[in-house]
Amino acid sequence: MLDIQKIRADFPILTQKVNGKPLVYFDNGATTQKPQVVIDAIAKYYQEINANIHRGVHTLSQLATDAYEESRKKIQNHINAKFAHEVLFTSGTTHGINAVTNGFASILKPGDEILVSALEHHSNIVPWQMLCERTGAILRVIPMNTDGELIMAEYDKLLSDKTKVVTVNHISNALGTINPVKYMIDKAHEVGAAVLIDGAQAVPHLKPDVQELDCDFYVFSGHKLCGPTGTGILYGKEECLNKLPPYQGGGEMIKEVTFEKTTYAELPHKFEAGTPNIAGGIALGTAVDYMNEVGFDNIQQQEKELLEYGTQQLLTIEGLKIYGTAKEKTSVISFNIDGIHPYDIGTIIDKLGIAVRTGHHCAQPIMNFFEIPGTIRASFAFYNTKEEIDSLVAAVKRAQNMLA
Ligand code: PMP
Repeated sequence: MLDIQKIRADFPILTQKVNGKPLVYFDNGATTQKPQVVIDAIAKYYQEINANIHRGVHTLSQLATDAYEESRKKIQNHINAKFAHEVLFTSGTTHGINAVTNGFASILKPGDEILVSALEHHSNIVPWQMLCERTGAILRVIPMNTDGELIMAEYDKLLSDKTKVVTVNHISNALGTINPVKYMIDKAHEVGAAVLIDGAQAVPHLKPDVQELDCDFYVFSGHKLCGPTGTGILYGKEECLNKLPPYQGGGEMIKEVTFEKTTYAELPHKFEAGTPNIAGGIALGTAVDYMNEVGFDNIQQQEKELLEYGTQQLLTIEGLKIYGTAKEKTSVISFNIDGIHPYDIGTIIDKLGIAVRTGHHCAQPIMNFFEIPGTIRASFAFYNTKEEIDSLVAAVKRAQNMLA
């Protein structure tokens, strides 16, 4: 059992008042708050060891390089990657996906097929569409049912020897559905397709084991698991990353440069051109340590209770409908209230100190599927409490009365 008050004391922002009311932060799907240790790690880097990495013989450069590479190893252990050089630092999920799609531009041929799920965030749709435009590949969509679950029978039918890539999120940001990614990866491999898993919404809730999953690529953002913004990871199997050409040229990613020809550095440097977010990369390692200290079993237990309690309490509101009723889901509740625009509820409850996300959640195809403009999304983290859910329910009721 977590001592929630002790955990909350790790997050300085949670004691804030917003609009004169205690902050209730339920927008964790967009980004999580940061514990003091992560904030300190950033400050410590700039105060004590700021220098560019992989370049200098001087002491500070060495210390910064060691700290950065140690963070890479922490993340390697966390996701159980076979090699540290399979763990590439990026600026986030979007960056990771684009690095892969750009790499595939020289591999795919006209008529090759890419399967993308109906549950994707725009950042796992648009880069693949751009890739199709460049290569003549065809995008096919794995459909979902009204509970917000992908239909595996349809997925099986879509797979063929034309399928070159399958891309799917581990957990949906808009609905919270946990997708059967292990099954999907195994099936894709039967037809020889590569699989990218968008783990942006999974890493705050679970510890992915990339070797057990056997995915070819796994991407996530640091800011959703209590780490800094502008950080992220692209994991790729060594053989998969070696097949992809780098998509950014510059310093640090080369073996030798002449005006006639340049040869590229080995992994991971081949994909890490230029000076990275050094402080952020180091602090991401601190965030991963922090989450592991809290413990993913504890995190899941707390979030399960919040999801059950939140679902039960919100459903006491007349005219409230929840979107995303998958059997396997995480602590996200996406809902609407009859006859009221989600934006109006969001604006009113903000005045009461409650932060939720309203809108299409960068997942317009999901909103189109349900024929709605958007939803109100409350996404819970392990540092949230049932009392905060009570505040949300009371605030939504108040907004409903005002708008009725
Ligand atoms: N995929 C999913 C499932 C997400 O939830 C998000 C962020 N909302 C992203 C991709 C994009 O992440 P980022 O903006 O950090 O690159």
